[in-house]
Amino acid sequence: MSDSESNAGGTAQKHYDVIIIGSGPAGYTAGVYTSRAKLGTLIVSGTLPGGQLMTTSEVENYPGFPNGIFGPELMMNMRQQAERFGAVVVDDEVIKVNFKKRPFTITTHSETYTSEAVIACTGASPRKLGIPAEQQFSGRGVSYCATCDGPFFKGEDIVVVGGGDTAIEEATFLTKFGKSVKIVHRRDSLRASKILQEKAFENPKIEFVWNNVVSDIKGDKKIATVLVKDTKSGKEKTIQAGGLFVAIGHEPNTEIFQGQLELDDKGYVVLKNHTKTSVEGVFAAGDVHDHRYRQAVTAAGFGCMAAIDVERWLSERKHNSKSSKK
Ligand code: NAP
Repeated sequence: MSDSESNAGGTAQKHYDVIIIGSGPAGYTAGVYTSRAKLGTLIVSGTLPGGQLMTTSEVENYPGFPNGIFGPELMMNMRQQAERFGAVVVDDEVIKVNFKKRPFTITTHSETYTSEAVIACTGASPRKLGIPAEQQFSGRGVSYCATCDGPFFKGEDIVVVGGGDTAIEEATFLTKFGKSVKIVHRRDSLRASKILQEKAFENPKIEFVWNNVVSDIKGDKKIATVLVKDTKSGKEKTIQAGGLFVAIGHEPNTEIFQGQLELDDKGYVVLKNHTKTSVEGVFAAGDVHDHRYRQAVTAAGFGCMAAIDVERWLSERKHNSKSSKK
């Protein structure tokens, strides 16, 4: 039986065997495993309960769904599966952690919790262009998710920034709605997979603006034009744009772990031994440490691994503390 009382019934207590921070595929899968292992489990969902898949439409590559499944439906299923075994999910955001002493302290906007172990599953967020006008036009033509916002741009001239899989996939998707789609990329070759590249090159609605970066966005109530700058000549030109989709990668959501966990130079959590972090008792799973695969299925796999590692670590500790009392 767990150290904490049973969580069945869904009310949040203050102390748990394990607190999972984040509710993407990694967090919910970890929750399924820890709660099935009878560990008192709290999942703090974060600002976007369900994570990045909540902002996608159909997911075709998650095994077990031969006809695909909508991202939000998949995440609701995962949440229910974790809750079914007793995990408590609170829709709140962690604002502070203290991993310097055990039990660990996790502070949200509305509560302070403690736990024996933690699994960090905070994922990653879309990278921003970093120009002043970006924020001004966010939600007024600037978007980070074509599958969420694409249908709002029917008949518009659309600009997509980036040269990876996401940019090319989103640009292809956006041709269903837009009058034209221009892909602005800072180099003259794409890093996207060949199959996606070929599809984009064959698509008559897609045009490439090579060796250019977006330097400014102009408009009134909503975006009207995008200013791009040639990375070689420095020459600027204006492109008509009713929508600007930014698809230039992601940044790990690790601000709350700064000074608490070892992070790499890009801010991702460093794993020491399987899913163990630099702090004993704190584990990590999913995009928060994985910048290589970033798939829902790999995040779920990492979540499972972290949960098993937590279970073993907790039982070893119990075993060790019992033997030291003898
Ligand atoms: P990514 O592979 O990191 O590509 C980011 C792109 O944005 C690169 O082309 C990069 O240019 C460009 N970029 C980065 N910072 C920029 C900046 N400040 N200004 C302008 N351009 C900038 O990211 P992603 O496309 O989101 O893909 C992430 C991972 O998910 C990848 O492993 C990918 O394979 C995977 N994914 C797979 C699929 C699929 O299989 N269907 C779909 C989506 C994503 P450079 O090329 O010059 O570095």
